[in-house]
Amino acid sequence: DEKFKKQKTSNNNQDVFDIVIIGAGPAGIAAGLEAQKQNLKFIILESTKKFSTIINFPKGKPIYAEPTDYEQKSDLKISDGIKESLLEELESQIQDKHLPITEGTYVTKIEDENNIFSVITDKKNYKALRVIIAIGKSGNSRTLDVPGEEFPKVFNRLFDPADAKDKDVLVVGGGDSALETAILTSEYAKSVSISYRKPSFARAKEGNADKVKRLVEQNKVKLLMETNVNEIKEDRVIIESSDKEKIELKNDMVFTMIGRELPTEFFNKSNIKMEGELSLISKLQFLLLIFISGVIYFGKSSADLYKYTLGEKVDSFSDFFNQLFTIEFWGKFISLPAYLLETLTSDSIRIWSVTKYINAFVAYIVLIGALILGSYLLLNFLKNYKDKFALNWQTFKYAYYIFIAIFFSYVFFGGRYFGIEVFGKSQSFWYTAFYSVTILVFGLRRIHVKPTRYIKYQTWSLILIQALPLFILPEFVFPFLGKIGALGGENGFVFTQVFPNQSYWRSYGIVLAWPLNFSNLYNGNITTFWLIFSLVQTFVFIPAIVYKWGKGAYCGWICSCGALAETLGDEYRTLAPHGAKAKKWENIGQWVLLAAFIITGLKLISILYKIEIPIINENISYTADFFQKFYYIGIDVIFAGVLGVGVYFFLSGRVWCRFGCPLAALMHIYSRFSKYRIL
Ligand SMILES: Cc1cc2nc3c(=O)[nH]c(=O)nc-3n(C[C@H](O)[C@H](O)[C@H](O)COP(=O)(O)OP(=O)(O)OC[C@H]3O[C@@H](n4cnc5c(N)ncnc54)[C@H](O)[C@@H]3O)c2cc1C
Repeated sequence: DEKFKKQKTSNNNQDVFDIVIIGAGPAGIAAGLEAQKQNLKFIILESTKKFSTIINFPKGKPIYAEPTDYEQKSDLKISDGIKESLLEELESQIQDKHLPITEGTYVTKIEDENNIFSVITDKKNYKALRVIIAIGKSGNSRTLDVPGEEFPKVFNRLFDPADAKDKDVLVVGGGDSALETAILTSEYAKSVSISYRKPSFARAKEGNADKVKRLVEQNKVKLLMETNVNEIKEDRVIIESSDKEKIELKNDMVFTMIGRELPTEFFNKSNIKMEGELSLISKLQFLLLIFISGVIYFGKSSADLYKYTLGEKVDSFSDFFNQLFTIEFWGKFISLPAYLLETLTSDSIRIWSVTKYINAFVAYIVLIGALILGSYLLLNFLKNYKDKFALNWQTFKYAYYIFIAIFFSYVFFGGRYFGIEVFGKSQSFWYTAFYSVTILVFGLRRIHVKPTRYIKYQTWSLILIQALPLFILPEFVFPFLGKIGALGGENGFVFTQVFPNQSYWRSYGIVLAWPLNFSNLYNGNITTFWLIFSLVQTFVFIPAIVYKWGKGAYCGWICSCGALAETLGDEYRTLAPHGAKAKKWENIGQWVLLAAFIITGLKLISILYKIEIPIINENISYTADFFQKFYYIGIDVIFAGVLGVGVYFFLSGRVWCRFGCPLAALMHIYSRFSKYRIL
């Protein structure tokens, strides 16, 4: 670290250490040995005693120096054995090193004062150029939050396995400490049961899992997988299985070995962000991305407003700039929300225009939000980060985002408010063009970073499917073929069944199936061709793909949402939410699927039979349209478009695909019959 070396040479203050190490566990001691080797001026501060975590391990606890293929580079070596042999081994390695360890000193926080850190403790304070935090996972034990947890027979740490002699023991948890507690107590206890909420011990070390397996075979330990503790009573415990069956067990002792909370208070006080934790600026950046996605999505399908703002379209770019400097335009711009609300509430508005005006209103609000927030974040960036600027992939990436944001604001603003079209192309055209370019750019980057054959084929498949059938064919090739008469006459099959009224956009349906893409099964003109094609695609072709290759074949190799997630979202893949809550949220897709079935079903019935709904005497189609508006705003625009893309950088690229996509939900059902079923 060049900066550290410079600071060290220019530091004449005797009171400032090169390094303060907090914590004298194996990590802190190893850091101390290295600092000693490098001739640095350092001190180790320890709140209790050195190696206190290990001293508190249960008597005779087996030690696993795992993972075994991990090379121990530190001078402090750890080998397999038991607690007592490990302590002996550690002590002998530092015996003649005379490390400067100050025990009984609790660090409360760290402050950064002009590149010199102040380490505040309950005794005295220390100054250092660098601080190493090696405090382990010393937070409080997690609790079950069930009645009876306060009984004195409930422990979160095993002291001596012999304490369990002749007792009925329940161990809760599935990590190493839970399994070790079960292994050690099984030597003494009358019975040992393990209750764990998951179906397997995926988190535990192999050695522990194997030992438990053997004990189960010998009937010394009983496994209660996929269960949760419901209540602890004086002489019993009540456990509930995943199918809500209640199990009652005789019990004298409970060990809740479900992990420890991280020492977050210490980090919060010291203003240190942990991985995955967001700073205020990150949260604001998050909001800005949502705003920008909002401008692009809502703007793309918003009503044209130039008639209100200017009276007519502008003729040229110079006109556009002239208008930008007139007070009349800005007067109209400021009063636009009132005009939009008035239009939306007026009786004369047609049902099919409602969405366009709602979109215009939302786009206006998010545009203002994006401008204010964007300016603030830009100023903040210039103030704090200008010295960190470097020409690399990160800079290119952010420059690309900024370009997209500015470009779309211009396309939106110019198109809707001034009536000009960039190079004569609509906003939807630019949207699809940049969607394809983004997949290409980030796809190439992905291939560069992970140059395996699989990644190469998969990424090229996504890039080409997006570029050809989803952009070049509908935007250029089909219109051109139509123009030169290669697609047949006006009354021919193509122009009556496939692209009626030159609706070349329908070709998106070749790749994007219902219910991900509604448009071929939901509009005033559902043709027999698209009806049959879509049904075969969704109910024959896709199930066949899923059966043969699994769900990932469509999502990861064909779909355009998957394409963006695999390319733009690739860097953020590790941010995907895990755990039981996230799993529950995955059910949203099933509800979206149900809504899609109802809405499309109503529409199809309304086309086949002209049923009127009793009392309101409206055609059933009207009801379908009414619900479809909600579906469109809620699912397509907000979930898929705005949140789906906006949260890429925070919760990974797969948020929409995993939680919202109705086609993925349908494929999930199909995949139950696939050979690639996820058990
Ligand atoms: C029951 C149990 C069984 C385990 N079994 C194994 C095993 O078999 N193999 C394995 O590799 N790992 C095992 N572990 C994990 C093991 O504890 C760690 O691998 C190891 O101790 C981590 O070393 P460390 O130096 O990072 O943290 P620790 O050993 O926890 O050391 C941190 C030190 O920092 C001190 N400290 C904390 N906060 C402050 C503060 N604010 N100010 C000053 N000092 C502070 C603490 O007192 C402690 O001495 C087990 C853990 C438990 C609880």
